[in-house]
Amino acid sequence: MTHILHRQIHASLPVATAGRGVELFDADGRSYIDASGGAAVSCLGHGHPDVIAALHRQADRLAYAHTGFFTSEPAEALADRLVAGAPEGISHVYFVSGGSEAVEASLKMARQYFVEKGESGRRNIVARRQSYHGNTLGALAAGGNEMRRTQFRPLLVETHHIDPCYAYRYRREGEGEREYGQRAAQALEDKLLELGPDTVMAFMAEPVVGATAGAVPAVPGYLKRVREICDRYGVLLILDEVMCGMGRTGTLHACEQDGVAPDLMTIAKGLGGGYQPIGAVLLSRQIFDTFANGSGMFQHGHTYIGHPMACAAALAVQEVIERDDLLANVRTMGALLRTRLDERLGQHAHVGDIRGRGLFIGLEMVADRTDKTPFDPKLKVHARIKKAAMERGLAVYPAGGTVDGVEGDHVLVAPPFIVNEHDVDQIVDRLAGAI
Ligand code: PMP
Repeated sequence: MTHILHRQIHASLPVATAGRGVELFDADGRSYIDASGGAAVSCLGHGHPDVIAALHRQADRLAYAHTGFFTSEPAEALADRLVAGAPEGISHVYFVSGGSEAVEASLKMARQYFVEKGESGRRNIVARRQSYHGNTLGALAAGGNEMRRTQFRPLLVETHHIDPCYAYRYRREGEGEREYGQRAAQALEDKLLELGPDTVMAFMAEPVVGATAGAVPAVPGYLKRVREICDRYGVLLILDEVMCGMGRTGTLHACEQDGVAPDLMTIAKGLGGGYQPIGAVLLSRQIFDTFANGSGMFQHGHTYIGHPMACAAALAVQEVIERDDLLANVRTMGALLRTRLDERLGQHAHVGDIRGRGLFIGLEMVADRTDKTPFDPKLKVHARIKKAAMERGLAVYPAGGTVDGVEGDHVLVAPPFIVNEHDVDQIVDRLAGAI
């Protein structure tokens, strides 16, 4: 009997008792490969000795000091590192404790930025229909996934969602990728013109869609065009890299591969690799200067922002990734994983598409691969694959299953950056068995 309210009432979940490398172990001694059980969190795998040592050192010295009174060495060092590796124009970092908090903070930054610039009429947010930006009320409003939003209406912030999903190359009918990308970007411009461009503060998007569609990269040229449109109408571009960022796609930030720099970027999950809860907003010099020359502060805060333990863990995680050149492994193992999945499941009757970047790979499940018909959402195919995979010792992330079938059923495979060829084979074997 559990007294925890789990997401699924009466869920009987295995008790996780240990983690080592790519594996998690439960109380019965069963082992599971963590191929995204943590929603693309565990980038270094579990129990990494260097991160554990860094956590011990920090706990010995200082666990907590409120950021209203003090800064801390790990927070300063982590911010320096993040700014050094950030896209062009980013000058500062705002720490939070996770992805939803990062999205909330980015929305409030955008709002405050325009208020301080004397453009307080810019209140609208535009985002993509097929998106997920978090579960707090503001972040939930920003995301377009109806299944998660419906019962919480009216939402606190109204967001205007655009179709088609920029990245949804699989369901474009008889149209080239580039043309599709331009059409998807045009939907943004049309929406800005419909709302009145000077009523819009920001456009928010994930460069590679994660939780709603199992790793769909934006089509080539899409984000460049979006950047141009945002610049033309003075709208801020917020890129949500909570799931696809921090090396997951083979470069530190996913948007590097699109040649685009945002005004605000949200990161979390892989930043701390699961060793501590941490997220951050990266913000541009322009936004920072507006606050600095205006009210002199960002009107926001949480008790645990910049937590020294969280920053020490994230710093250690990021140092190991660089020292061990793990992004190179993300690229080679990602390519291998993709090849193996194509070989093994590419022709499967119910696998419609296999896509992604680096170690962020999604499979789209369909009832009929010739006409791409999605499964009836009531069948909950994604949840059944998750369960069957767990029975085979594999944790993969299930996505989708919305009411109108637009989102469909997806499986996200996003193992730690340390995987080797043997791990990749095991993952593909167990997933094929589960499917
Ligand atoms: N943004 C994106 C793109 C995400 O994938 C997620 C989590 N799946 C979030 C925001 C919310 O992050 P968290 O669950 O840490 O609040």
